Amino acid sequence: MKRPERRWAAVLGWLLCGAALATDPVPAQGVTVIRAGTLIDGVSGSARTNQTIVIRGSRIESVGSGTAPAGATVIDLSSATVLPGMIDGHTHVFLAGEEPYVGGYDTQLLKYPLAYRAARAVVAVRRALEQGFTTIRDVETEGAGYGDVGIKRAIEEGIIPGPRMFVSTRAISTTGGYDLDDYAPEVVVPKGAQIADGPVETRKAAREQLENGADWIKVYMTHRSWLDAAGHLQSQPTLTVEELKAVVDEAHGWGKKVACHAYTNPGMKRALDGGCDSIEHGLELDDATVAQMVKQGTWLCPTIAVYYRHLEPENTPEGKRARKVIEVHGPSFRRAVKAGVKIAFGSDVGGFSWKDPIAKEFPYMVQYGMTPMQAIQSATSRAAEMLGMKGQLGVIAPGALADLIAVSGDPLKDVKVLEKVSFVMKDGKVFKESAPSR
Ligand SMILES: [Zn+2]
Repeated sequence: MKRPERRWAAVLGWLLCGAALATDPVPAQGVTVIRAGTLIDGVSGSARTNQTIVIRGSRIESVGSGTAPAGATVIDLSSATVLPGMIDGHTHVFLAGEEPYVGGYDTQLLKYPLAYRAARAVVAVRRALEQGFTTIRDVETEGAGYGDVGIKRAIEEGIIPGPRMFVSTRAISTTGGYDLDDYAPEVVVPKGAQIADGPVETRKAAREQLENGADWIKVYMTHRSWLDAAGHLQSQPTLTVEELKAVVDEAHGWGKKVACHAYTNPGMKRALDGGCDSIEHGLELDDATVAQMVKQGTWLCPTIAVYYRHLEPENTPEGKRARKVIEVHGPSFRRAVKAGVKIAFGSDVGGFSWKDPIAKEFPYMVQYGMTPMQAIQSATSRAAEMLGMKGQLGVIAPGALADLIAVSGDPLKDVKVLEKVSFVMKDGKVFKESAPSR
């Protein structure tokens, strides 16, 4: 297996054009200076031009219009827009897109050996980093146990390249709440989540997951969804408020938080009454739900783009449901933005192919009511706040970890340019640098 230092050396070998660039990895305590043509710092409401970012070791030392300290390695991004490394708040590195032509979700649990899934996860995390996502919250392994803890460790030890990971291991749902569908009842098939019933079992499941390395607990508060006779989207609630409260109480006791997958009421209401820290997807947020989220300070991780893939034929129940989801999700997101719900970027990548750009989520966020700057902040400083890393991640400011990216063009005019990240630095080390387009 290649050591990352050698990989970085190889990447740096590609370096092109007038930039004064390192030929070796940045020394641990070395000083690097980035000249940013335009700087979006992740917090400020507007961009600045011609900024000098001084990085010492893994942290940002200063940002301003000063000159580079003598002897520093200078990286010239004066023709680019520099931003904080992006954060995806909802990923699945152990899912490979659920492509129907290869059997969809079931195939991944039934036919893929764990080592094969781990190999694909290694590629997935590298893909995230290449796209400028220097931090991810990975919200459960879908039947791959504690594999995410292993992938995270390999990244932290420098064995493989990848983003900083916050992992949630197995996830929790109830009996009937996260099955593979349509198998004979006497055939035992694996589950994509840990099944627990009653507050004693749900608390125990949370304890097991926390003991084995979960940074977050993921809970499925709804499972199946369908359209009722009136054409409204309905979803099956799973945990009761009491079952969820046991999980939340346990996680909070460990200083950890709980992410709740929730589509519609009553599962959504239970998620909020039970004290969830973030609502995942939140397909149909009515005014009362939005008000409760604002009051409780609950995060929304909307994952819009993922619902636009593989739309089944319009005249099938699945096709009708998929179109209804799209119909309600956008306006629901708009309602949340208007009301001031705290929103963190999440793509659900893994639910769609890792070959697709994660940043395809941004245009949907803008289409449904965010300014481009708000969308960028949702993937930088806001997501960092959700992760309890305010001031450390998602911001280009003194004292923050030196996670930076660059793009050509102006993402405030066209958020789609975030799909083409040309420069990635994580922890003060350059991972990717391609030729700036002038
Ligand atoms: Zn998901």
